[in-house]
Amino acid sequence: MPCKRIKINKDKCISCGACIATSPNQAIDFDENNKAEVNPKIVKEDDEIVIDVCPVEAIYLEEFDEDKKEYKK
Ligand code: SF4
Repeated sequence: MPCKRIKINKDKCISCGACIATSPNQAIDFDENNKAEVNPKIVKEDDEIVIDVCPVEAIYLEEFDEDKKEYKK
């Protein structure tokens, strides 16, 4: 199974809070600038549900490329 992680483009984030309210594992919270931020320690597979709630498409998934040994969009 490919390894994935949730990323947030803070430049796009409008601080609406929808992802924070929806995250089933409290994996997302506001940072000191009121932009959404992922807590990588508690991100789980079912956190992918938050991707679709963002009204400005600031949340996306990166998949780990086994050949290059790095994450890619
Ligand atoms: S749903 Fe999108 S715009 Fe709203 S706080 Fe989360 S990342 Fe920011």
